[in-house]
Amino acid sequence: MPLHRKLFVTTALPYANGNFHIGHIMEYIQADIWVRYQRMQGHEVNFVGADDTHGAPIMIAAEKAGKTPQQFVADIAAGRKQYLDGFHIGFDNWHSTDAPENHELARQIYRDLRDIPDSAGGTLIERKTIEQFFDPEKNMFLPDRYIKGECPKCHALDQYGDNCEVCGSVYAPTDLINPFSVLSGARPELKHSEHFFFKLSDPRCVAYLEKWTQDGRLQPEVANKIKEWFSVRTNPDGTKSEGLGDWDISRDAPYFGIEIPDAPGKYFYVWLDAPIGYLASLKNLLDQRGQDYDAYMADPKLEQFHFIGKDIVTFHTLFWPAILHFSGRKAPDNVFVHGFLTVNNGEKMSKSRGTGLDPLKYLSLGMNPEWLRYYLAAKLSARNEDIDFNADDFMARVNSDLIGKFVNIASRAAGFLSKRFEGRLSAEFGALGAAMLADIRSESDAIAKLYDTREMGKATREIMLLADRVNAYVDQHKPWSLAKDPANDEALHQVCSVLINCFAVLTRYLAPILPQLAEAVQGFTGLDMAKWNVDSNVATIAPYQHLMQRVDVKQLDALFEVPEPAAPIVEIVAPGGEVIAPPISIDDFAKIDLRIARIVACSAVEGSTKLLRLTLDAGEQDATGAPRLRNVFSGIASMYSAEQLVDQLTVLVANLAPRKMKFGVSEGMVMAASHGDEKANPGIYILNPWPGATPGMRIH
Ligand SMILES: [Zn+2]
Repeated sequence: MPLHRKLFVTTALPYANGNFHIGHIMEYIQADIWVRYQRMQGHEVNFVGADDTHGAPIMIAAEKAGKTPQQFVADIAAGRKQYLDGFHIGFDNWHSTDAPENHELARQIYRDLRDIPDSAGGTLIERKTIEQFFDPEKNMFLPDRYIKGECPKCHALDQYGDNCEVCGSVYAPTDLINPFSVLSGARPELKHSEHFFFKLSDPRCVAYLEKWTQDGRLQPEVANKIKEWFSVRTNPDGTKSEGLGDWDISRDAPYFGIEIPDAPGKYFYVWLDAPIGYLASLKNLLDQRGQDYDAYMADPKLEQFHFIGKDIVTFHTLFWPAILHFSGRKAPDNVFVHGFLTVNNGEKMSKSRGTGLDPLKYLSLGMNPEWLRYYLAAKLSARNEDIDFNADDFMARVNSDLIGKFVNIASRAAGFLSKRFEGRLSAEFGALGAAMLADIRSESDAIAKLYDTREMGKATREIMLLADRVNAYVDQHKPWSLAKDPANDEALHQVCSVLINCFAVLTRYLAPILPQLAEAVQGFTGLDMAKWNVDSNVATIAPYQHLMQRVDVKQLDALFEVPEPAAPIVEIVAPGGEVIAPPISIDDFAKIDLRIARIVACSAVEGSTKLLRLTLDAGEQDATGAPRLRNVFSGIASMYSAEQLVDQLTVLVANLAPRKMKFGVSEGMVMAASHGDEKANPGIYILNPWPGATPGMRIH
């Protein structure tokens, strides 16, 4: 390891379609602790982030919000600072992938790749014509998630273009029955389009990446996973792995992104320009300082590191090193992968979803950001593994360890020093005290190594073990007893001086995690807390002020409080024998697809006195254009005869998952009214629309 390192560090770029969630904050805290540690060692670090702004989802979200995409991402960017400042995350720069630096760098990298011949005499960029669904009303090609239709396997309606959420099968959007565009509702057309591919399958790329990913730099569990992607084989589930495939890096207009040089109407796929945003943010920072970007990047001493989550490993360990290397640029030295954060063993905090622990709510409740930094540090390791935020564990670690073991050392000694010795510390520590202080200082390199290798949990455990030793010394020497007899003044002075010096060393060890507390201790002791190796003793202290409050259980209760749904308006009189259900949003309601259906046939069900078997026409057709009828069982035999119902129109819950019953599969449900109290009124009444409604119409 060079004595003076030059480091370029990033965190993954958040997609600019929403605010930060706790998963982002965890990653930023992890990287920030590492960066602060490196700076304490005197290394030079540039630590940058940026918003990932391009792609179809942002273009569509902006349109819905009635904004231009530029306005939309600018509004998101304006909300970032309160989170970063709030949790003491010290990025040197926060930029945007839509900034001019990124447009320029992305085009330059592309040109460099295009001009390099591959093994077969072509170049690493290849053009291929592909077939894709096109929305004729919106005039745009549709990403898989913007096409829906009927599942070709289980016939569930309203399934996405890539997989069925009812039966779980995976297919191509072209397999869907009755596909429609989510954006316009129009039936998509298959159209040809020329796309640009980065030839990851080129033997030179494969050889380079096998070496880059398997030479021991990556975390072992990450490297092992990647190894599977290189091999051609049949997986246990029957699917085939073809080795590395070429990567489609282009999208057709309209697209919010960066136009491909010499290819009007073609844009870079968002994942091509997103990581280039790391370089763009760095370049913007260096420009602000009047430093030369090219010279900075050309320095052979420069080390480049990316902190990322496990969901974006492919992009950062295959595409990213390959496009950098083959465009003649420096590839990352390493990529540090972390797992997901769950909250109270709850839902996953991935890029696209995650509330549970709202970071802004945490701050607005007056909760100390350094509690969270400490707690997460205590849980983090160098491995790619998920961690859980547990409210009880959080309170125990902050109150018992951080405050009980560490902060209390200072509060126990400072008062005596201020009141009895005018804040001056003794230079004599006694044999025991001197030995303990020397021991604690001698752990400096071991703890440094834990930080450097991102073993933050182990580092906090080591530091707390040292705090335990100091507390044992306190119990042994009992300063509060010594203080009772002025004859013990010298001993009291020594003991308290030992304690404050030990506290200062422990604070230094915790400074990457607790920057604000370290700053307060610097003011209190006069020691420079910005450097890792300082052996000088504290000479005097300022009057002690509370360094940190305990976590109050009420704060945690408030943090995780789920707002009660508004009480039903009618509670005194229950209409129809049942109170009104809690309110739902219009989005909740929109999930239920209600359709007019004609009862084509109806018959009694043998073996059941309750059920009738209905054959329904809800206006659907199969792939050949033939009408598709549905089989639905309904518990209305006590009210209606089969003959009465034939040819009647009624209301069908059309997207209810098919349900297997004793008598067959029920493909939906017809709606019927009944009283909450069967004794008051045992009737079941099916719904019948007014004349004019026809099968297939949706009920809104
Ligand atoms: Zn299905």
